[in-house]
Amino acid sequence: MNIGVDLGGSHVLAAVVSDDGTIEERSERELEDLSFDPVIDAMKFVIEDVIGKGKDKPSAIGVGSPGNIDPATGSVRYSPNFGWHDVPLGARLREALGLPVFVANDARCATLGEHTYGTGRGTANFVLLTLGTGIGGGIVSEGTLAIGSGAGAGEIGHHQVRATDGFVCGCGKTGCFEAQASGMGLIRHAVALQASFPKSMLVAGKPEKLGSKSIRKAAEGGDGHALAAWNRYTDDLARGLANVIAFVNPEVIALGGGVASAGDYMLGTVVPKVDALTTMAPKGSTRIAIATLGNDAGAIGAATMARRGGLTAKVP
Ligand SMILES: [Zn+2]
Repeated sequence: MNIGVDLGGSHVLAAVVSDDGTIEERSERELEDLSFDPVIDAMKFVIEDVIGKGKDKPSAIGVGSPGNIDPATGSVRYSPNFGWHDVPLGARLREALGLPVFVANDARCATLGEHTYGTGRGTANFVLLTLGTGIGGGIVSEGTLAIGSGAGAGEIGHHQVRATDGFVCGCGKTGCFEAQASGMGLIRHAVALQASFPKSMLVAGKPEKLGSKSIRKAAEGGDGHALAAWNRYTDDLARGLANVIAFVNPEVIALGGGVASAGDYMLGTVVPKVDALTTMAPKGSTRIAIATLGNDAGAIGAATMARRGGLTAKVP
């Protein structure tokens, strides 16, 4: 068994993962301070805690971290979420724990987990897209996870779907897929449409409750403002998905994250729109499905990376 660690923007999870992808033990901690040393301390705490709970000594540790990671050293080259530049994440954990440590981007780890044990199981060509605060993703092509020459492959969230009339993305570009089609994107569409629905209380009436889920539920209930936002949102989501199909034509695109919990309602809206935008790949040759591992995909994928000795997902 191995340890999988999922480092998020607000908390860290360490899990003991068996070789069949089952989480046997877990330890979690909220992150108060996002500077490097306190985050390393929190990671050491949850890893040592979960090793203490497990039956055997782990053979290796895999870590999924936001940002661009140097796969050779496990250093984080940059991570906008944490404000880190060139921090030796892998080296510090190796030194502290005395075990092999592999580090990779969190979304690539989640893709590896979902491909090996979740919705992508058994497919040679697979894409995971996690629709949360942002959009994380990863591409498996002919059985191998795409990493890219600078470990930047799979950054699907930052291809532009509305380059001239979209929202400004956290990365600085306009109309990135992430800005338009993440959970935050749905909220932005609702806010942008407020002027067209002056009597709507969707945004103005309950700002503390405004989340992608409340907008989607209101849309399901027939609220005009929410339906208009949902319609624009799914237009942009479909654009991005059709682009992914044009580039990769995977067997399955799995949608994870908060918005994807809409399940059939989401698929019922978006699949016909994707079909309409799919022009060269045979329509229906890519199935769009909901991811099954949920928030555990990252830790399970990180442990899978540790077990294989690296991120490359060629099925052994
Ligand atoms: Zn962007």
